[in-house]
Amino acid sequence: MPNMHEIPYKKRLNSEKNCDNIERYMNRFMNEALKEAQSAYELGEVPIGAVIEKDGQIIARGHNMTETWKDPTAHAEMIALREASRVLGGWRLPGCNMYVTIEPCSMCAGAMVWSRIENLYIGAMDEKAGACGSVFNIACNDRLNHRIHIETGIMEEECKNIMKQFFRQLRNRKNNKSEE
Ligand SMILES: [Zn+2]
Repeated sequence: MPNMHEIPYKKRLNSEKNCDNIERYMNRFMNEALKEAQSAYELGEVPIGAVIEKDGQIIARGHNMTETWKDPTAHAEMIALREASRVLGGWRLPGCNMYVTIEPCSMCAGAMVWSRIENLYIGAMDEKAGACGSVFNIACNDRLNHRIHIETGIMEEECKNIMKQFFRQLRNRKNNKSEE
């Protein structure tokens, strides 16, 4: 067993003996994606958030803005991808990892493949529209020239709960209106 201090941090994270470290590392970024989801929630947007990380640093973030901007492409992931491209000065994002609270749709998964995102970390799956394993798997498909490594279930409960809370509130508001 080599001395732990001699192994670069990233390699150490990948060693199976350090599952706790990996989890803590992934949760740190998912937590930031959740903060983005919260910002969307406060605007009355479906609460989905995303961050893009490179070499342990967050280089871009985004949250759903479809209602506010009246733009069907203003998903959290698309906004983060655009920002990351601006930051890095190109549309290819090698070595970048995406953390997103809810499984990306076909549009976002497609954009992630185009941008060559390396790893995708998902909070909760979306059985109705997810394109990273649920309805389709665009993010990791042999027929495309780039495949994204996917990990799911990161802070799943927290990511699910904020969605549930949002839709519950929306239903309550609608019910109250119809009673008036
Ligand atoms: Zn999307």
